[in-house]
Amino acid sequence: MASILEAGVQVGDTHMAARELFGSAQLQERIRVLADEIAGDYAERGSVHTVTVLNGSLHFSSALRLALAEANADLGATMTSDTIHLASYHGTGSTGEVKKISDLTHSVEGKHVLVIEDIIDTGKTLSVLVAELLAQRPASLAVAALLRKPEKLAVPAEELGKTVYVGFDIGPEFVIGYGLDYDGLYRDLSAIYALASVS
Ligand code: 5GP
Ligand code: MG
Repeated sequence: MASILEAGVQVGDTHMAARELFGSAQLQERIRVLADEIAGDYAERGSVHTVTVLNGSLHFSSALRLALAEANADLGATMTSDTIHLASYHGTGSTGEVKKISDLTHSVEGKHVLVIEDIIDTGKTLSVLVAELLAQRPASLAVAALLRKPEKLAVPAEELGKTVYVGFDIGPEFVIGYGLDYDGLYRDLSAIYALASVS
């Protein structure tokens, strides 16, 4: 799998090396364990309504929702799902400005909402979304993020919601694969890679 990116990645004028952080099997296993934990917490609430943040969360969301339905068949039979398309990234640095490309189809009022995010970097995207969802008065709100960069968090943790399920904490590096792109590329690689400058 690592051989796909053996030649590295050209980011503007810089040639970056790609190092595999999490392989496909490791991602699947962590998502299964995360789904067991989440399904346990939602069993007593009796339902879950997922809000997937496009595009980066596509693969994570699909894997997590299938695993949730497998972990708890009753939850699987009643689960509902919506998507919202937000963008804040250009190149490898956050702009801090969150653009809404497309909105939810349904209100989250009265629902037990689980936001599914690819990665929490500065947390700005998530804090904007959480505030917007809370204004619609959901019955509860939690977040599932595959990756989180604790060193880069730039908003108060309370703004990300009371419950945040995290797949893996990583360093401040830029990552690609499993939904995460650089300039539209690499989203459909089944592993996650960190990019580092070659000096
Ligand atoms: P924020 O800084 O608002 O937490 O992150 C905004 C969005 O930028 C994330 O949802 C994700 O889509 C994207 N992003 C953040 N860090 C990375 C990264 O390391 N790689 C890629 N490909 N996207 C990232
Ligand atoms: Mg995202």
